[in-house]
Amino acid sequence: MNAPIFPRLDIPNTIAAGPGPGNTADRVLAAYTSPGVADHMQPDVLRGMIECKQMLREIFGTQNVHTFGIAGTGWSGLDAMFSVVHPGDKIVMFVNGTFSDIDALSVRMKAATEEELNANPLDPQAASVITIRVPHGQSVTGEIVEAALAEHKPKWAAMAHWETGSGRVNDVKGFSEACERHGVLGLIDAVSSLGIAELKIDDHPGIVGWASCPQKGMMALPLTYAPVSFSDRYIAELRKIGARSFVHHPLMEARHWGIIDGQDVEKGTYHRTHSPYAVASFHEALRMVLEQGLLQRSERYRTAERALRAALQAMGCTITSNMTSLIVLDLPGDLKGREKEFVTACRSEGFGIWPTLSEPTQVRVGILNLLSEEELTTIVRRFGEMLNRFDVLTDIDAAVKALKQGIH
Ligand SMILES: *Cc1c(COP(=O)(O)O)cnc(C)c1O
Repeated sequence: MNAPIFPRLDIPNTIAAGPGPGNTADRVLAAYTSPGVADHMQPDVLRGMIECKQMLREIFGTQNVHTFGIAGTGWSGLDAMFSVVHPGDKIVMFVNGTFSDIDALSVRMKAATEEELNANPLDPQAASVITIRVPHGQSVTGEIVEAALAEHKPKWAAMAHWETGSGRVNDVKGFSEACERHGVLGLIDAVSSLGIAELKIDDHPGIVGWASCPQKGMMALPLTYAPVSFSDRYIAELRKIGARSFVHHPLMEARHWGIIDGQDVEKGTYHRTHSPYAVASFHEALRMVLEQGLLQRSERYRTAERALRAALQAMGCTITSNMTSLIVLDLPGDLKGREKEFVTACRSEGFGIWPTLSEPTQVRVGILNLLSEEELTTIVRRFGEMLNRFDVLTDIDAAVKALKQGIH
């Protein structure tokens, strides 16, 4: 069978107002398409990677030498971070939504013994993995972590910083302190929070590994790099026990970013073929984050979330999240059970909001890189117009007024 010659793939502009990916900035897209044709060892590409590494240390707030990007998406960075977990390793996973649940699956695949993996290859039940479940809509607190680590005394513990499934912020400070008290090595999924939360990872010495993504706080969706950072303790452990991966091996991947034998070197050495276009756009995204200022960015997100929250509440929605880049809500009473229908109607018109991916079904409205008054007003108006079309009488102008009061 021959595939037909399809017409050129054109993708329309949408408002990416979901949990992620965010609206990629024009500057980042332009940087993707403007580099000259070059290969992965061309000097400016290598220099760009070194500069990205330096910018990432600033963004993470860390002196960790092993701070760089893993080619791919958030899960690629997480896979590299979890590559240090071996079959039979005792690890406590804190789960309070879709993404930390997938983290737990990813870890079970690594911690499962051969027999456990054979018994259920796609969902191994690894006896050494202890999962602590916190109900949807609630945060993982320091007390929950403390109690679990005191009881189970694992080697590792892992948690999402911001659980994007339920829109909840988990307590990294409490997590880190509990890890320190119990001599546990902490690992954090910081996919949603990096670049938005006020975060300096060096303030949390109980946590030895951090993994983020290109498409949320970094605004670099053109498939680029998942930022990661590993402390010297993580690296020492990895050196001792190894990892069953070439491509996602943190020590191997670090080489191309000019990190060899724990030292910064002048230029990277080949690990795999990096794209100059990806490097250029990632570089531009990191420059934008730093130009905007880390504290200023988190303040802008806080203000925008507060204002949008007020507007959505004015339209009768009930909000259960506490992240500053994402609102998770219940629609006004009459629409209970019609969340997916509502979201589908919005999405079919290029207004890209999302439902929750696990139960209970709620609606998620995100503001990644959509922080201007104009953009927020558009979100409020589009949302209100759809409520009206679903026969929920909504005063859109009053909601916009609440939004503007929140901004100013
Ligand atoms: C988005 C997200 C992921 C997955 O990231 P991808 O870029 O889709 O691979 C993992 N964890 C959390 C907390 C997320 O928000």
